[in-house]
Amino acid sequence: MSLNEERICRAPRGSKLNTKGWVQEAALRMLMNNLDPEVAEHPSQLVVYGGIGKAARNWASYDAIVQSLTTLTNDETLLIQSGKPVAVFRTHPDAPRILLANSNLVPAWAHWDIFHELDQKGLIMYGQMTAGSWIYIGTQGIVQGTYETFAECARQHFGGTLKGTITLSAGLGGMGGAQPLAITMNDGVFIGIDVDRTRIEKRIQSKYCDVLIETMEEALSMAEAARSTGRPLSIGLLGNAAELLPRMIAHGFVPDILTDQTSAHDPLNGYLPDGFTLETGRQLRLENPQEYIVLAKKSIARHVEAMLELQSKGAVTFDYGNNIRQVAYDQGVSRAFHFPGFVPAYIRPQFCEGKGPFRWVALSGDPEDIYKTDAAIMQAFPENAGLQRWITLAREKIAFQGLPARICWLGYGERAKFGRIINDMVASGELSAPVVIGRDHLDAGSVASPNRETEAMLDGSDAISDWPLLNAMVNTAAGASWVSLHHGGGVGMGYSQHAGMVVVADGTKEAEARLERVLTTDPGMGVVRHADAGYPLAVETARAKGIRMPMLD
Ligand code: NAD
Repeated sequence: MSLNEERICRAPRGSKLNTKGWVQEAALRMLMNNLDPEVAEHPSQLVVYGGIGKAARNWASYDAIVQSLTTLTNDETLLIQSGKPVAVFRTHPDAPRILLANSNLVPAWAHWDIFHELDQKGLIMYGQMTAGSWIYIGTQGIVQGTYETFAECARQHFGGTLKGTITLSAGLGGMGGAQPLAITMNDGVFIGIDVDRTRIEKRIQSKYCDVLIETMEEALSMAEAARSTGRPLSIGLLGNAAELLPRMIAHGFVPDILTDQTSAHDPLNGYLPDGFTLETGRQLRLENPQEYIVLAKKSIARHVEAMLELQSKGAVTFDYGNNIRQVAYDQGVSRAFHFPGFVPAYIRPQFCEGKGPFRWVALSGDPEDIYKTDAAIMQAFPENAGLQRWITLAREKIAFQGLPARICWLGYGERAKFGRIINDMVASGELSAPVVIGRDHLDAGSVASPNRETEAMLDGSDAISDWPLLNAMVNTAAGASWVSLHHGGGVGMGYSQHAGMVVVADGTKEAEARLERVLTTDPGMGVVRHADAGYPLAVETARAKGIRMPMLD
């Protein structure tokens, strides 16, 4: 084991600064928190989640980032280029303290082979979405989105509940690991296939998944028994999806709902071809990556063919944002896009109101701080029944990973209101330290991703990526604490551009003004993007909220 494999990162807790200001401190703690073994999937390789989504390019860069954050003053800005700190410039107190650009390639060069070549040379890093922008909060970060997606699926197809249904998926990694809990929270039965026993065990340990089962027959009979009594149950089934889905078809099993969250967006690092063990796969990946990619893509094609067959037998089937359809389509599966992506199928109406995965983290490390914000949000939005139910469930069922954090989908107006409440709670001393407020890049107005967030836009503007660039620029102008621009994310090189933002509530008047501005511009971009595309709900929201769009009428 090398020295680096022994390194364990854990964010400092408490109210004592290790830096020259709370924004720098927040970035330092969030970087370390991303790599906390409770949070990250492979921390020794700096990999946080989503295939090879990393928090820093290498350990030397990590150390240099920590050093830079420690000395950074309140009128300076640190620049990060694909996980490496490259410059510090004097800016001004209201400017972001950190600006990050991860995995960006000029469009005609934006392919995995070029990325891998540059990665090998140590020139670039895959930032995924929240890995390279230091706002990943563990599997919790995606739980509510997953819960909302399946709840909407239940409303559209199963009379409003997943009780008495079986959902089949694969991939119990950093984000996919949210599926078992999201399904049981919706009262359903879940089978999640994963090739890696340690991933299933991690979900069981963190109480996201109920049991690990090693044979398909046992998993199916357990699932059928739970379905027939209407009992919620989640099963992690050890095996390869490309092999098990065809076997399930041969067995005569048809799930009620079918999706997938292997990291198929990255065939080299995120998908194990069938016929391989983790170890033989690892060897082939090292010795002959080209051969590995060919085999992984063939398996992905078989996997999608099986999904299409199960869809034709009645399973409600959708792509869960890992670009699996595109990989299969490129392999000659001409019907790959016959099942929809989850955003147009279930999520877009929320984007039209500027809603998305908003999150906050207690820098104190004290769970009580989050419980106090839970009470505050319930008091602030008494009319929002969905939110009341979510916060109650989250508090009861979600174990914190790393620094205590909470997620909840809030829209335009709501985010600014809650940001102010949090800042007041910090100012009054009710919370024991400042709070970081951020979001996923998978959000209303921060992504261009034609196979995911912007799939099937009403006006055909799916591939236009001016929007995430504007999002990053306006959030920088508004004074976010750190802003990031990424390429690739959850769907892989060439398929998306997206922006992230984080803003720190440290209880000061200056923070109050920044929060008000950023938490308005950021969800505002979501409403504007969808109103501009002609979605009536977004147009109505823009009008009702008084968002100024010069050419709306
Ligand atoms: P991850 O890399 O942490 O986990 C992937 C998992 O798939 C691993 O546990 C791996 O063992 C398993 N796996 C690989 N090949 C397999 C095979 N053939 N059969 C069975 N299991 C296999 O990734 P993650 O963070 O969980 O994300 C998963 C995918 O979902 C990514 O493509 C990500 O971009 C996408 N995604 C999901 C959401 C969401 O809303 N949930 C959002 C964005 C992206």
